[in-house]
Amino acid sequence: MKAAVVFFLVVPFAALGQPPCGALTPSDIEGPYYKAGAPLRASLAEAGSKAEKLVLAGTVRSADCKSLAGVTLDFWQADENGEYDNRGYRYRGVVKTDEQGRYRLETNLPPPYMGRPRHIHVKVQRPGGQALTTQLYFPGESRSENAALVVKVERQGGVRSATFDFGLP
Ligand code: FE
Repeated sequence: MKAAVVFFLVVPFAALGQPPCGALTPSDIEGPYYKAGAPLRASLAEAGSKAEKLVLAGTVRSADCKSLAGVTLDFWQADENGEYDNRGYRYRGVVKTDEQGRYRLETNLPPPYMGRPRHIHVKVQRPGGQALTTQLYFPGESRSENAALVVKVERQGGVRSATFDFGLP
């Protein structure tokens, strides 16, 4: 009897700290600046930028907890002045998940702009699936945004490292 009580107490807490596998990532508004056709590339960072370097990485999994390979993540964000490039593809780029469902993007940290908290836009699409359009936010910066869309941040040397795991239907 005691063993059963311990089991039920311990198991749910073991799952804390990571969003539970199978949790679907919520969508968020696209906003006016998406532009199709961004190049496939691992880095959007610009050598001359005054903005901090950011590495964003994580996984994409299905609702039944399988790692999803070949998922495209189409990112777009503001530059250090809070502006989107509507002529070309600065700070726009696509990365794909590897066989383990992992993705990695290097970029510069976008600033908050026009009253909005700092954010990075993304469209996530598994092969043959529907695109999820959403935005990622940063800890402690967005009172009004969905907590399920806030990245985890660590600082390693001069680089901010952010983690976010996506769940797709
Ligand atoms: Fe935006």
